[in-house]
Amino acid sequence: MKKTESDKLFKEAKTLMPGGVNSPVRSFKAVGGIPHFIARGNGPFIFDEDNNKFIDFTCSWGPLILGHNNKLVKDSIKEVLEFGTSFGTPTRRENLLAKLIIDSVKSIEKVRFVNSGTEATMSAVRLARGYTNKDLIIKFEGCYHGHADIFLSNAGSGLATFDQPTSPGVPQSVVDSTITLDYNNINQVEDTFKKYKDKIAAVIIEPITGNMSVIKPKNDFIFGLRSLCTENKALLIFDEVMTGYRVSHGGAQEYLKVEPDITTLGKVIGGGLPVGAYGGKNEIMSHVSPEGPIYQAGTLSGNPVSMSAGIAMLKQLQNKDVYDYLNEITNYLANGLKEISEKNNYPLIVNSYCSMVGIFCTDVTVNSYKDITQSCISNYNKLHKYFLENSIYFPPSAYEALFLSTEIKKKQIDHVLDTFNRFSKAH
Ligand SMILES: *Cc1c(COP(=O)(O)O)cnc(C)c1O
Repeated sequence: MKKTESDKLFKEAKTLMPGGVNSPVRSFKAVGGIPHFIARGNGPFIFDEDNNKFIDFTCSWGPLILGHNNKLVKDSIKEVLEFGTSFGTPTRRENLLAKLIIDSVKSIEKVRFVNSGTEATMSAVRLARGYTNKDLIIKFEGCYHGHADIFLSNAGSGLATFDQPTSPGVPQSVVDSTITLDYNNINQVEDTFKKYKDKIAAVIIEPITGNMSVIKPKNDFIFGLRSLCTENKALLIFDEVMTGYRVSHGGAQEYLKVEPDITTLGKVIGGGLPVGAYGGKNEIMSHVSPEGPIYQAGTLSGNPVSMSAGIAMLKQLQNKDVYDYLNEITNYLANGLKEISEKNNYPLIVNSYCSMVGIFCTDVTVNSYKDITQSCISNYNKLHKYFLENSIYFPPSAYEALFLSTEIKKKQIDHVLDTFNRFSKAH
């Protein structure tokens, strides 16, 4: 595969930006090799600067659930550009997107728009702390909630003790109030609530994970979180930046039938432009400034261009056929992969929820971050490389989820399955 342009651009980029990128996982550091510079996308395909064509299973890390270059999203951006891009005033389209979100996500009665998922989660935690008048936050190892200081920590040595920073530049004092526990272990959460009685403001979780690939919560875990939070007057925050409008129209909360107190959104709701949001019951959201005392603001928040793209996206997602199709095509991929792996005796676990798919190159059930082994990762890296050589763009890290779009058809999945058959026979 010719890669001269990408190689040249990456060499230059490395002199201009740290690692040549503006977000680390793009650099291919996890899988090895040099990233492809993408020049354009159309439907299910992306094309790099050397004009190599790939079937895209990343969808810009989630947002593009209707594929690349969606006509109605593109038209809506063109239309709004005629009138100017930002005013720093209230605008009509903010109401429209807010209504679309409130209508589809059950636990949201009021919503605040921000510009990224990171902003949404850090604002949600501030709201939870301000609302409960408590400081401690519980999160789970392997969940990603953006790059705010409070989340860049891990459990360190002892369980249910305070965290250690995972990045230089994050002060110990900032993560002194973050506690990281194991996903799918309700006993740890129960013990922590006992140990820090009346001190825990919130539990934040990816209700179905997408950042340690795709792991579903066990029933006793997710329902247990709900009741522990209620009993202890702590807020349950579902970080649905990835799962929102992905695992179902109403997000993971609809799929799992568990209602959080605060929900964060991003990715899909921006239609490919920068948008994040957090929302919840009116009673909680009314504590946000200027209605309440908890401060949070944004110069470009709710700008008409992002709102317009989001509206065009969410309007199309009101059609139930979208999710029926995504379920069907995702099952076709997931079942195909499972059958082939069994036939060829290749260890593979496939976790799929509507348009999100997690593959683990192992035959042991994966319930938490610790279950993802080194061999899982090195096997995935081999698969990733082989797929890329066969024009299939899987995420360049074993910890990332595959995303399907409505533009992917059986024909493309058949190519993936054929490729996987050849790969798994040889390994
Ligand atoms: C992507 C993601 C974020 C961060 O969103 P950004 O827009 O990249 O800041 C937060 N939480 C989850 C679950 C995500 O998948």
